[in-house]
Amino acid sequence: MLQEFFKRYVRLKGLSERTVGHYVTGINSINVILEKYNFPIRNIFEAKTVSDLESIKMFLLSNAEFQEKNRIGHNMYSVSFRHFCEFVCGDYEFFNHNIQQMDIVAEKPTIMTITTTAYHRNQIIVDQSLEGAGYCCEHDAEHKTFIAQSTNHAYMEGHHLIPMKYQDAFNCSIDVYANIVCLCPICHKLLHYGQAKDKKYVAEELYEKRHERLINSGIDLSKRDFLHLVI
Ligand SMILES: [Zn+2]
Ligand SMILES: [Zn+2]
Repeated sequence: MLQEFFKRYVRLKGLSERTVGHYVTGINSINVILEKYNFPIRNIFEAKTVSDLESIKMFLLSNAEFQEKNRIGHNMYSVSFRHFCEFVCGDYEFFNHNIQQMDIVAEKPTIMTITTTAYHRNQIIVDQSLEGAGYCCEHDAEHKTFIAQSTNHAYMEGHHLIPMKYQDAFNCSIDVYANIVCLCPICHKLLHYGQAKDKKYVAEELYEKRHERLINSGIDLSKRDFLHLVI
């Protein structure tokens, strides 16, 4: 998937067509090794995240066959991989100035089936919780969004104060009204992706508002333990 973009990138960096070919060959040779050793990611060009590349890098560092091949090939493979890693995550300058030149017609992506395991969560309970909150952000009722097509009310999102991934630690359900807060999308994303100090400020306040209701729902978690889980 990333192969054509990578080739374009290398060309735009002013490197010769021969070098472009070398890099692609180098990476495909690493792919052969990944396949041979049953590494979970078989194709570097199909990497989805930066951490995919980091795990490949760690594997290559510890793989004797790769090290030997690379030595004989005068580092051609590690150099190709390094350039690919730079393309993926180390060249902000390039993308800042040249992203429009990366517009090429790319091949249609393949379809894949993703199987995940997660606790059931009930959308009805989430919807009722939004209704119960009057479609107001429970961090700050002044927060404005837009009118949602499906409810005809302000668009809000349900957030599990104690995330469902911690369900294992509880003997009763945490997919309950007391654990679901109604938040505007910005406050919601803040709790998932914000910096610790900002998250703590909002999470602590919501916990205090819900503490008693959580206990009534059989969920007894001290503020300290709660913050430890979510920050
Ligand atoms: Zn959430
Ligand atoms: Zn908000």
